[in-house]
Amino acid sequence: MTHRNSPRGVMTTAIHAGEGPDAATGASAPPLHMSSTFVTDQVAGFSAHDLQDNSAYLYARWGNPTVRMLEQKIAALEGTADCLCLASGMAAATAIFLTFLSAGDHVIVSDVSYAGVAELARDTLPRLGIRVSTVNMSDPAAVAAALRPDTRLIHTETPVNPIGRLTDLAAIAALAHGAGALLSCDATFASPLGQDCRALGVDLILHSVTKYIGGHGDAVGGAVAGSNELIARMRGEAAIHHGGVMSPFNAWLIARGLATLPLRMKAHEAGASAVAGWLETRPAVTRVIYPGLPSHPQHDLAQRQMRNMSAMISFQVGSADQGEALAQAMIERLETIHYAVSLGHHRSLIFWMGTRALMDTSFRLDGAQLADYRAYAGDGIFRLSVGLEDAEDLIADLGRVL
Ligand SMILES: *Cc1c(COP(=O)(O)O)cnc(C)c1O
Repeated sequence: MTHRNSPRGVMTTAIHAGEGPDAATGASAPPLHMSSTFVTDQVAGFSAHDLQDNSAYLYARWGNPTVRMLEQKIAALEGTADCLCLASGMAAATAIFLTFLSAGDHVIVSDVSYAGVAELARDTLPRLGIRVSTVNMSDPAAVAAALRPDTRLIHTETPVNPIGRLTDLAAIAALAHGAGALLSCDATFASPLGQDCRALGVDLILHSVTKYIGGHGDAVGGAVAGSNELIARMRGEAAIHHGGVMSPFNAWLIARGLATLPLRMKAHEAGASAVAGWLETRPAVTRVIYPGLPSHPQHDLAQRQMRNMSAMISFQVGSADQGEALAQAMIERLETIHYAVSLGHHRSLIFWMGTRALMDTSFRLDGAQLADYRAYAGDGIFRLSVGLEDAEDLIADLGRVL
């Protein structure tokens, strides 16, 4: 199996990119460099502006060899020239907004997105004088209508957390580039295996590496992959100046997880498709949303755009009261699946998300946008991250309550 972006196969890339036997010791596994500073032969030079591509390591806020290894692995998997890792997915999202937007600029953000990104876009960016339009990104005409002469960035997320709605990335990239704007995409739900963001025209590919890339639920981190020029600007602003850098220890854990990402994504997809198919047979379940199911409203786009359907399932059971009662039953009776937020781990996780509560806090949609959200989520959804357990055991566990 050869990889779209690399002369080597995707499994080889995930294992070997960014690393090699340690020059000093011959260690086959990459060393963990827990060093904040590096002995230098330079007399002076300590500004973000002095950082060159070939600069030696100086101080870990600028760069650390273990973090660099993870950045090179993610860049290789995404087929981009470079990548910047930061302390969390939110640090990575903030880095995009604060590097590429200034007071007076306009940004178009998906009207449904990871809750932290939605709240940042609705509350923080306007306070800094950045004008924000929130748009249903599954509708390219709505995005076209929202473009203005001062639009600098379009930020989308596909599949979108928590409802699994998709963005046609090639269509939105054409709109962004036609208007002289950048396109950033939060591809956390898809993982780098899910879609070829770079080939589809995305300039900045965002991952919460806390999720599939790390894959084991033990380390928080974020990454943005893109061109040398865009990533160098972000490294200067977001890493060196805003300072939210990734710990080398987290980078080492996450790189160890990433080595098996291609294998894990195949297993995640197989497990999710078995569980999603079973959920569709349950009388109590009124709606299942999974890009791999023919019943997904954008299944055609999913087949065109996605190489791996990942393992995020949303499902409904009727009214908000019914959803809350079922969530309570899950807390009491599930034995394998953890009732917890987050996703993309080897352990399966499930969480109830009521529509009214999300609207009051994160999304604040009304009119047609609320109707579009409810068309996917009704009064609320269970967000199920299917892990790597045996699908029969997950089905048996859900069978205790469904
Ligand atoms: C979790 C998540 C984030 C935020 O990442 P953290 O690592 O928790 O800061 C951003 N986007 C999506 C889609 C996520 O699922």
